[in-house]
Amino acid sequence: MQKRVTVSLFLLADEAGGAGPSAEDSSSVSTPVLRVSQLDAFELDAALEQLLWSQFYQCFQHLRPGLLTPFEPELKALLQLLLWRFTVYSKSATVGQALLNIRYKNDLSQAQRYRPMSHQQKLWFALCTVGEKWLKERSHGLFLNRPADSHVHKVRRILAALGGLAKVASLLNFLYFLQWGRFPTLTERLLGVRAVFTRPPGPRDMGFQHATRELLWHGFAEFLIFLFPLVSIRRLRAAVHTLLPWAEIKGDSRSLGACLPAACAICSEWPTMPHTIGCEHVFCYYCVKSHAIAEMCFSCPKCGLELKALESLKMQIEMTEFH
Ligand SMILES: [Zn+2]
Ligand SMILES: [Zn+2]
Repeated sequence: MQKRVTVSLFLLADEAGGAGPSAEDSSSVSTPVLRVSQLDAFELDAALEQLLWSQFYQCFQHLRPGLLTPFEPELKALLQLLLWRFTVYSKSATVGQALLNIRYKNDLSQAQRYRPMSHQQKLWFALCTVGEKWLKERSHGLFLNRPADSHVHKVRRILAALGGLAKVASLLNFLYFLQWGRFPTLTERLLGVRAVFTRPPGPRDMGFQHATRELLWHGFAEFLIFLFPLVSIRRLRAAVHTLLPWAEIKGDSRSLGACLPAACAICSEWPTMPHTIGCEHVFCYYCVKSHAIAEMCFSCPKCGLELKALESLKMQIEMTEFH
């Protein structure tokens, strides 16, 4: 999300060429809205719908699980209709558009001044957006468990064909939108509603330094996330100890006699099936074996000696203590 936003910041800056500042009201209508703003409005709307739905769903989380599942498409449609009632219906703009200083204009009227969407356009808009989503989700369930030769399946095939046609048309429409910058969705084109600026857009002063820094940091963070699983902290520590012998050898040598044979050098527990790799340290068989499998060249984490042969160890010292 973060990256997308920063990338779209760049796109904004790229597209900003022709948009000059103007105080006139008609300039807000005549100034073309950037493609990226129109698409970002959809993203924001989708995020808001998701947020609403998850909040709504959480209200029912303590009730019987699966209670909402049979009515999920209807409930989602209801929430979207509510949203539509208080955004597109009353203000001719979705929430995402309002955030980006855009609203819908009735493009069928030839007037130069701003005309809000007509009543019919609003109703058709709801039908095409909410209704389409509902039909898509509901149609899966509608045709299950029906006999194969019934009329229902004919309807299903027709719906599938229509869906395919609509997808092709949307794709063509989107390509057209990329070229001309108007009507990103088929619904908008068919209904003749176009996104225009609510207020005349002001001069855009972009902090390029900030955007660059964001991109760099994001790239760096992704690189670290990729790198960390490949780094073995234990192996690094062993390497540091071998390079800087004074770092811990002293402490080691003091405790060597007292606790060494009694503790695994990896898990520091009483060694289960004690084994040695040739140095004076002891390992559980499972500890050393699993590390040897995970690492190509396993070395003792205490002294850095590389594993060549694994030998089992008879812990006579400790055993004699018990007798
Ligand atoms: Zn162990
Ligand atoms: Zn060792």
